[in-house]
Amino acid sequence: MIIDIGNRKIKINNNILVEIYHSRQLNQRDCEAGGMLIGSIIRDSNDIIIEDLTMPIKGDINSRTRYVRSEKHNKLLEQKWIDSQYTKMYFGEWHTHPQDIPFVSLQDIRNWMNLMKESKTETNLLVFLIAGNTVYKVWIGNRIKKSIHQIYEGDYSDFTIS
Ligand SMILES: [Zn+2]
Repeated sequence: MIIDIGNRKIKINNNILVEIYHSRQLNQRDCEAGGMLIGSIIRDSNDIIIEDLTMPIKGDINSRTRYVRSEKHNKLLEQKWIDSQYTKMYFGEWHTHPQDIPFVSLQDIRNWMNLMKESKTETNLLVFLIAGNTVYKVWIGNRIKKSIHQIYEGDYSDFTIS
């Protein structure tokens, strides 16, 4: 799936969207799931590819309406950074919401703002994704402008589910 934001394109690989799709909170008691989005910048362009992610692991805090990932995700990220010969880097966050159409909460925005400030990564743009049961939405955060805005809304029919 490719989002064109004018001066650059953001590609989110199918397998990433499929993993997120399968993490949706379809049952009454399913907890929020989430993790990091990991990607790289295409050489000789501004284009971004989100090609990896981390999934919930033991140590994360989660409930029906809350997900806080543990420090362990940083270890996973570091390994991917090394294994990819320093091309795959931290590119943002994904999490689920127990809603058909996900609405971003004030807490989400606060968390993202914080991550934009604190994250050690080589990109000035970060990608944030919230997956609802029938719709998912994507935001872009600009670390220089300190701004976040929504760039995409999809209904999961925009990629192949396997
Ligand atoms: Zn949220």
